[in-house]
Amino acid sequence: MGPSSGNNKNRFLASLLGHRPQKRVLIINVFMDDRRVYLPNSFKVPQTMAPVYLAGAFSRTGCRVRIYNEHRSGPLKDKSLLAWPDMLVLTGVITGFDRMLHMVAYAKTLNPKVITVAGGPAIRALPEYSREFFDYACQGDVEQMQEVIADAWGREWADPEMTPRYDLLPRFHPVDYLETSRNCNFRCGFCSLTAERNEYQKYSLKNMEKQLRAMKPGRHLCFIDNNFYGDDREFFLARVDLLQSFYKRGHFKSWSALVTHDFFLDFENLDRARESGCESLFSGVESFDRAELESYQKRQNLLLPQMAAIHRCLQSGIVFHYGLMFDPSRRSVRELRSEIDLFLSAPGITLPSFISLTIPFLGTPYFEECVRENRLLPRLKLRDLDGFTQTMKPVDPPEAVASLVRDLLSFRRYRRKVLRKAWEVWKTHRGNLSVFQRLQTLVNVFNLCAPHWINSPGRFPRMPAGRTYISTTEPLDPVYRPLFPVHSRYRDYFKPTLVTDDGGRLTEALLNDYQPDGSRLKEKDPPPLLSAIGFLAPHRVETPTRHTEKDQKSFVFIGRLLTPSGKNMKRGKRRILTLRIS
Ligand code: SF4
Repeated sequence: MGPSSGNNKNRFLASLLGHRPQKRVLIINVFMDDRRVYLPNSFKVPQTMAPVYLAGAFSRTGCRVRIYNEHRSGPLKDKSLLAWPDMLVLTGVITGFDRMLHMVAYAKTLNPKVITVAGGPAIRALPEYSREFFDYACQGDVEQMQEVIADAWGREWADPEMTPRYDLLPRFHPVDYLETSRNCNFRCGFCSLTAERNEYQKYSLKNMEKQLRAMKPGRHLCFIDNNFYGDDREFFLARVDLLQSFYKRGHFKSWSALVTHDFFLDFENLDRARESGCESLFSGVESFDRAELESYQKRQNLLLPQMAAIHRCLQSGIVFHYGLMFDPSRRSVRELRSEIDLFLSAPGITLPSFISLTIPFLGTPYFEECVRENRLLPRLKLRDLDGFTQTMKPVDPPEAVASLVRDLLSFRRYRRKVLRKAWEVWKTHRGNLSVFQRLQTLVNVFNLCAPHWINSPGRFPRMPAGRTYISTTEPLDPVYRPLFPVHSRYRDYFKPTLVTDDGGRLTEALLNDYQPDGSRLKEKDPPPLLSAIGFLAPHRVETPTRHTEKDQKSFVFIGRLLTPSGKNMKRGKRRILTLRIS
């Protein structure tokens, strides 16, 4: 007997006894493996915390919540778990959109009454198109989950505190995660955050302190902020002061975070970070080529030479991690390989954690440019926007780029040089980095040459057959074959979502949200005067950023609510509002 039949019996008994049966919620972080080997990445750092935050929206007494992270645990194949929930909540990055459809097909086949909710970057990239597939296609942040719960079941099933459910994480996780801000204050041309156009938001220090107190002592902390430095130095200094006070009391072992390049301009930032227990920082270098950075509109990386920033960081006693991006549609393979030679030969520079191809994420200025210049490959699959599949017409023959991509996946041609480089870094930074920190620099040898050794120890990947590394001809992943027969209504959910057609133009699916030239379709103009639920007089929504039509008469907005006299409700806070047309 599977968990769902046992639970059904319990729920029936509970209703006989007059108890309100608990609602069952399954939250899945979907994942399409960029390496296509689909091993669990149990040791991978960082991991998404979205399911943990989403779970916090549900009433602890009213709902039983389970989470499943496909990135951490591998593809979900448990039929009884898929049949279990009353509400299925899906989150994931853009490449996971098709996987969300698979989950809907499975869950709706097994339980046609299940309510499906999807959110995250994939839905924000395709807001109109997504409505076709999910009961709720959410474009907002995790807080929108509260509105969905209230609408589907009533407000009593939601938890207004939204305390993250760390208790639902698997017992083993190598680091603890915190968040003190959201989004980014920069607008790089290729970044999916730029496409989302959300403002940089800071949490309060009180919130950060609450998170720190909730952590078990003696752990390594990883801040998952997109930009821990942000646009407010005072706020940064206040946070490192708080960290220092906890660090001195031995509350945690060390911390790491993502920062933007402007952080390295001021030596004091590095000193303060180090004194508060910072062990390593990640910053997106993207390229050592100035022209390339300019084309990415990554101007903050031009403020200080990249190599100088890396040296400053290492000499301050903090490990510098970074990633690089190669754009074969603008540069030759020879030029791109010369970037590999550059970091391998530069004295004292750490190895990158990864190198991928540049991705034309939907909605970014870079995507628009690629569409306008007709650079996207024909029959480009959304799933292939993973950084290890060619998505654009290259300067050099595609076979030469495919050979480069194979090298990026395992560094097979460079392994000897990578080992030599790692040894050189180990020796050079003996004086300024601890043994543990120098071991961290060695992790990048595995990240580049054999990531499964470090992310899934003891497991060996079966490399997929027939890969071309070119989206037009790349075979589909095994997860596109249904695990079991699904209802005929959902059979097409296992077809890949195409970005372009045979001629390289945007497909009908994409034209729901984008103009043929790649720019975003204008959001529908909201009705000018609305009356919010619970207010008698008409209220106005100021600068609504987006809305979803829930039915003929109601909408969900994120905006500021003004009274008829123009007074700003809730002291100007941007809020998620459910409104009816008056
Ligand atoms: S700095 Fe990083 S997070 Fe911010 S927009 Fe650029 S790439 Fe995105």
